[in-house]
Amino acid sequence: MLVVMKAHAGEAEIAAVCERIEKAGFRAHAIPGAQRTAIGITGNQGAVELGLEEMAGVAEVIRVSKPYKLVSRDAKDSNTVIKFPGSDATIGGVELAVVAGPCSIESREQAFAVAERVANAGARFFRGGAYKPRTSPYTFQGLGEEGLKIMAEIRDRLGLVIITEAVDSESLELVEKYGDMIQIGARNMQNFSLLKRAGRAHKPVLLKRGLAATLEELLMAAEYIMSEGNYNIALCERGVRTFADHTRNTLDLSVVPAVQRLSHLPILVDPSHGTGKRNKVIPLSRAAVAVGADGLMIEVHHDPDRALSDGPQSLFPDQFDQLMDEVRQIAPVVGRSISSPVVHSSANSAD
Ligand code: PEP
Ligand code: MN
Repeated sequence: MLVVMKAHAGEAEIAAVCERIEKAGFRAHAIPGAQRTAIGITGNQGAVELGLEEMAGVAEVIRVSKPYKLVSRDAKDSNTVIKFPGSDATIGGVELAVVAGPCSIESREQAFAVAERVANAGARFFRGGAYKPRTSPYTFQGLGEEGLKIMAEIRDRLGLVIITEAVDSESLELVEKYGDMIQIGARNMQNFSLLKRAGRAHKPVLLKRGLAATLEELLMAAEYIMSEGNYNIALCERGVRTFADHTRNTLDLSVVPAVQRLSHLPILVDPSHGTGKRNKVIPLSRAAVAVGADGLMIEVHHDPDRALSDGPQSLFPDQFDQLMDEVRQIAPVVGRSISSPVVHSSANSAD
């Protein structure tokens, strides 16, 4: 159920409605929108009769027919824009969020080599796994906390916002401590206890679409997080399993406008996992920006042939420069922008 407040409803009126909901043993989620605030009620089975329609400042009480409500446009008409303390980077604003970095953090040298190049190219977000959900138990599983410390140092030195994956509640605690945004990977999209734990975290969450998840299942997974009180969630399309064998997965770009119609949450596109092939990452990045994605997640490695995971889909840094240059030209066509590359003035221009 959603309580839609009148446009001019004041703080006290909103608080009174929340209080009545909570006193009845339910949870109230006040979600401010551009025009008005909506209050989502969770914890109820079916309709709740609390006389909310009669309260001051209430415009209407609606039953939401969709199985998700807090993430839906019914709850909030304006787009969610995620902000990061200490940075002017956003996800869901006019500027596209470009997240780039290696699949895994392998060493301090490797992480810094890649981070410096993607930062110079204009990326504001750095990705890299310290905990890797690998298909085989015998492949590299990540550096764990040591990897997180390297990423935290990258944030401090280069000013990049750190996004890294948590695979269970133990790693989530550490990711919350060292990182800026908690990634929930495709394989964990329906790990409901992990989703609930992420919902209680104090950092934004990047939720990747499951390998065989429908749009409704993706939104329900986000609803799990939001119903616990974490409203800063971005979704990420990363390809789904199909019969196609020319790519690792099939990147479903049609999900971008489909999400945007139903939900206020931002959605990024990951063409690296989506295609699994380096030569397809730039074309699909162009397409993702053109279709209206709120940003990109791109795997980059300074020496992909020696990468410990996902080398074949990782761009060389020069290719990432090219990607940024191309999408920077496409972005204005869809009313977006991308931050500029860092221009290094030569140390001694008289030479
Ligand atoms: C990743 O981003 O490195 C990753 C493992 O992605 P996914 O969960 O989409 O497979
Ligand atoms: Mn990867």
